[in-house]
Amino acid sequence: MPAGRFSLTTSIMNTDLIIIGAGPGGYEMAVEAAANGLTVTIFEENKPGGTCLNEGCIPTKALCRTADVAETVGRAAEFGVNADCSASVDMPRAQERKQAVVDQLVMGVEGLLAKPGITLVKAHAEFKDANTVVAEGEEYTARNIVIATGRESRLLPVPGMDLPAVYTSREMLDIQFVPKRFCVIGAGVIGMEFASIFHRLHSEVTMVEFAKEILPPFDGDIAKRLRQTLTKQGINIKVGAGVTAIEQCDGGLRVCFSQKGKDLSVEADVVLVAVGRGPRVEGLNLEAAGVEYSRRGIVVDDNMQTNVPGIYAIGDVNARMMLAHAATFQGFRALNHILGREDDIRLDVIPSAVFCSPEAAMVGMTEEQCKAAGMEVKCHKSFFRANGKALSMGEADGFCKLISEKETDRILGIHLFGAHAADLVQEVAALMTQNATVQQLTQIVHAHPTLGEVVLAAARG
Ligand code: FAD
Repeated sequence: MPAGRFSLTTSIMNTDLIIIGAGPGGYEMAVEAAANGLTVTIFEENKPGGTCLNEGCIPTKALCRTADVAETVGRAAEFGVNADCSASVDMPRAQERKQAVVDQLVMGVEGLLAKPGITLVKAHAEFKDANTVVAEGEEYTARNIVIATGRESRLLPVPGMDLPAVYTSREMLDIQFVPKRFCVIGAGVIGMEFASIFHRLHSEVTMVEFAKEILPPFDGDIAKRLRQTLTKQGINIKVGAGVTAIEQCDGGLRVCFSQKGKDLSVEADVVLVAVGRGPRVEGLNLEAAGVEYSRRGIVVDDNMQTNVPGIYAIGDVNARMMLAHAATFQGFRALNHILGREDDIRLDVIPSAVFCSPEAAMVGMTEEQCKAAGMEVKCHKSFFRANGKALSMGEADGFCKLISEKETDRILGIHLFGAHAADLVQEVAALMTQNATVQQLTQIVHAHPTLGEVVLAAARG
């Protein structure tokens, strides 16, 4: 640390709790802590709402909706509707709408953080020691400090990453045109969502994925079937393909990759690099507080406490589960620990979803994980094409796999893709938190005709 780094300090402010980062981990925890009588100082160097509201969950979903509408208009004739318009896309208008949604939500978070007991400091914060944080020359102390700084996009260590029109998700979210040829490097959740959005907005989309299958954390069956469905739609998906370079070529970019020992390439106007995100720890001066971290993230225990008592790390920065709702509930767990109370939050039952078309979602263990753990399981399957609501909607593509423990019938997980999969998974998440069995699920009356019957059909076999 340079000498005199904190020499401009003018005063010291003390609160019960300091939170660094106002994403869904930090701001939700601040509100909950204040509601429990704690005084909170929360630091945010960008806009409140974090990645989720400003450059993640919400803007992508706003653009997903634009893509949904374009897709529906494009299919109008199939439903007997003569839509006398060619579904051309006005990207600046779509961006305006996206920004209006984001701004409204950010304003809501600012309102929450203006509640009594909470002080929002719009500045970069860093540690001075294990109980002190410094921002803009002021010192702030607290018995408990929470790091909720999130993650940021990583690039690949290959030539060409700095070429114009090679984007991360952040730049991609502000794009003002629909690229004719769009290449996505990485078929994880973020890559899949952008590929599906721009495919539906009429880009020619190619995906290049290093792993043998798309969506590596998902159940292999679901990932494979979803890949086949997206390929049938016209998305060109290359798996087992390692990108070696991006080059400028006549009229665009060339993404070079090697697949099965062959050197191949694809040309594109815009390339999205969606190959993962690293913890935002730089500039926090974690060394001054003695907090342990690795390239993956800050190391925490089940209460989200770091190796330093009183310092917690929640959300993306600890790499336990990089999802907005995981960040929020990890914050609630940390708060309960600070307040010395037990909770029933099941951090092992966190649903996740991919908002491509059709959606994919999961909660609990995959079949591969069960096998690796030596568990004997039963897989209960159903298809969207046998569901009346899905067929009425024109959404016949989809598959559901419910997994239970063979001996006890306890539900271990559900994995599915199909219309509204992200909503369907919630029912099983609720049952799993109660350790319910498949038999108990079969006794729940599901309304007809609903997509929820896909889950019931799987349970009933
Ligand atoms: P963040 O939301 O990243 O917030 C951290 C905040 O800390 C930031 O605002 C940052 O400016 C601030 N900060 C960092 N360092 C400092 C410092 N030193 N001083 C002051 N402030 C600091 N998740 C879902 O659940 N569903 C989705 O559909 C979804 N879609 C996504 C789409 C994209 C394109 C991306 C990139 C992510 C998506 N995610 C989604 C992931 C989700 O955004 C994150 O899991 C979530 O935002 C993590 O919350 P967090 O509070 O841990 O961190």
